[in-house]
Amino acid sequence: MLPSLNTPIPCQLLEDELLQKRNLKLSVLRTDLVFPMLSGNKFYKLFYNLQQAKQEGFSKILTFGGAFSNHIFATANAGKIFDFQTIGIIRGEEHLPLNPVLSHAKKVGMQIYYLNRTAYRQKNSPEILAQLQKEFGNFFLIPEGGSNANAVQGCAEISQHFPPQTDFICCACGTGGTLTGLIVGSPLSSQKIGFSVLKGGDFLRDEVKKFIRSYQKSLSSNNSKEINEKLIQNWSIQTDYHFGGYAKQTPDLLNFIDEFYQKHQIPLDPIYTGKLFYGIFDLIEKDFFPKKAHIVAIHTGGVIPLYSR
Ligand SMILES: *Cc1c(COP(=O)(O)O)cnc(C)c1O
Repeated sequence: MLPSLNTPIPCQLLEDELLQKRNLKLSVLRTDLVFPMLSGNKFYKLFYNLQQAKQEGFSKILTFGGAFSNHIFATANAGKIFDFQTIGIIRGEEHLPLNPVLSHAKKVGMQIYYLNRTAYRQKNSPEILAQLQKEFGNFFLIPEGGSNANAVQGCAEISQHFPPQTDFICCACGTGGTLTGLIVGSPLSSQKIGFSVLKGGDFLRDEVKKFIRSYQKSLSSNNSKEINEKLIQNWSIQTDYHFGGYAKQTPDLLNFIDEFYQKHQIPLDPIYTGKLFYGIFDLIEKDFFPKKAHIVAIHTGGVIPLYSR
């Protein structure tokens, strides 16, 4: 059977002294366990893109990413599972031997192509797109990181798997596409908090607003009033847990990830979910959450099942 958005997502209630002391509940929604080869949230982001590509008769998917990108990994595997040819446009030069992400992507059939950093920055320009068309023919384009209105729609469906009575919903933010899905998909009564993994994460507030608008446009106008209200009310972004920037790490963060694993047997990655959980526990220490609140953290994956980083 093909992976589906309705596949149940395991949810784990954490037992922890600090949570007990502060009278809080913290559940972890394990999208990382659902389709590990589709890398947690990336499956939900890809789903409606793949569906649209099929409906429009495309046989090729082209997308962009860094050499260690979870989105590239997930797209390569999704191509194999859902029967598309895939082309991965990678930022920078080729490094041999290929890292485990790219060698796996290639093994499952992805064509890998490199753009130097200058050209990569222009990847959405008509010139570069024309060059790619010439090289690869007709393709369905999925943006870097996979975030667009289809991705928002797919991530909105994660909300149907929340445990009852959630007060706070927390996730890591790269582009903000996943957070936007949770914002538009979940009840207004819950607060959504994104944790930026990039330095200078303030820009994500505008990105999320843009994603909400483009999602809104893709819907019938009936729903738009309700979603407009959600846009202004019930979400925020934490910008202090980037640890120096994207993919930057500190000994403190790596220690936290080790201890978290020893306590809860839940693996976290240092790029996204490690920063998320570090941030949640720091906010708990600082009494950010009101007593008796039920917090749900989305484990968005990122621990690639090929190797331990
Ligand atoms: C890609 C990724 C994210 C970021 O998702 P966005 O929709 O870009 O904000 C979060 N966590 C993990 C593990 C990811 O791979």
